[in-house]
Amino acid sequence: MTAPPIGGPGLAQVRRVCTDVPGPRSRDLADRRNAALPAGLTSAAGVYVAAAGGGVVVDVDGNSFIDLGSGIAVTTVGNSAPAVVSRAAAQLAQYIHTCFLATPYEPYIEVAETLNRLAPGNHEKRTALFNTGSEAVENAVKYARAATGRSAVVVFDHAFHGRSLLTMTMTAKNQPYKHGFGPFAPEVYRAPMAYAYRWPSPQNCAAEAFDQFAQLVDSQIGADAVACVVVEPIQGEGGFIVPAEGFLRSVADFCRERGILLVADEIQTGIARTGAWFASEHDGLVPDLLTTAKGLAGGLPLAAVTGRADVMDAAHLGGIGGTYSGNPVACAAALGVFDEINDHQLINRARDIGDRMVSELQSIAATTDVIGEIRGRGAMIAAELVLPGTREPHRDAVAALTRHCQRNGVLTLTAGTFGNVLRFLPPLTISDALLTEAFGVVREGFAAL
Ligand SMILES: *Cc1c(COP(=O)(O)O)cnc(C)c1O
Repeated sequence: MTAPPIGGPGLAQVRRVCTDVPGPRSRDLADRRNAALPAGLTSAAGVYVAAAGGGVVVDVDGNSFIDLGSGIAVTTVGNSAPAVVSRAAAQLAQYIHTCFLATPYEPYIEVAETLNRLAPGNHEKRTALFNTGSEAVENAVKYARAATGRSAVVVFDHAFHGRSLLTMTMTAKNQPYKHGFGPFAPEVYRAPMAYAYRWPSPQNCAAEAFDQFAQLVDSQIGADAVACVVVEPIQGEGGFIVPAEGFLRSVADFCRERGILLVADEIQTGIARTGAWFASEHDGLVPDLLTTAKGLAGGLPLAAVTGRADVMDAAHLGGIGGTYSGNPVACAAALGVFDEINDHQLINRARDIGDRMVSELQSIAATTDVIGEIRGRGAMIAAELVLPGTREPHRDAVAALTRHCQRNGVLTLTAGTFGNVLRFLPPLTISDALLTEAFGVVREGFAAL
């Protein structure tokens, strides 16, 4: 086999399908995988990667796909982005691990300082680092419980917060995340999300959803038992649900009046994805604690809890940590991500990409009757598909479109409690030409339904 191409932005930025999809080398890898990996561990795409960068992913058969997924909102600055690669490579050569709990190092502090500066609010902040999003959410709950002396956690319908025991409990959807994996963690309560498209009276959605939330807290749980409310400012896996205007601010005010901490789970929305450093900014939200992960380190495992100094200082000495938490190579990569975003104005680029995706989808919607709603912010846009003339979820259309796109050299992702949402999360380094070409393929997919 010839040497694989080098990834990063130097990779030829083209869509190219030169074999069946998946091709013979991917099929060989699938056979080996089936013999070596458990059956329940699935992948959305049937192709195996050789290189990626800019706006494309190249597979082991030489097919080049336009990337509309960014490894699920992770490679926001592009795969193998130059500043990420150079910073991480230098760090690899210097030292890889000492364990921050044992022998600390500067890159961790620099990531924390940066997140403290960028996170919403002018109050004093602290940041602790972890490896995965689930771990960040778990630890945000630990900080909230330590600071308030209360135990209840309130989450929302359609939420996704992770797959560990506590965060799986906080996640809303049974299949595939929870089924058969209980019993679940105690003291997790669920309120309705202000999901206007599926609310019986959409114009009253924010007020009615807030009333139900307030009743749950005040009448059922008791506000003085609630440590925190955890919410995604735009729900990710749930289908890019943008809470109805005003809902999040009402929740935030309610929490502040009752000493309940507000945790914004920005693991999918954070780090430039939505056309702001954090999606909380769009709602004028200043969360007490904020979690980040996916886009934070350009693909290396790194997660963070950033929050009010008084809250985070409440956890006792030695209570929080982990062997790999805040790994120096991952921290160096995160510093490279901040460089890429600042040097290339990627926050503006996210807005521009969002505008382009919305107008592409609106023009497709004029030609089909299966697009129920187009929503999202910045480079985080989704189309919810429904049976024509109804709001019934149209899962089969999403599956058919995903297949069509993959066979024609475009990688997309799905989402939604009902599996009927096509979601688009391109890297912010994708060119306008590739983006337009990709939506041409999406358009053909809708025409072929
Ligand atoms: C992906 C995600 C998580 C979980 O992150 P992992 O790194 O997969 O553990 C938590 N919350 C949100 C909003 C996410 O999108």
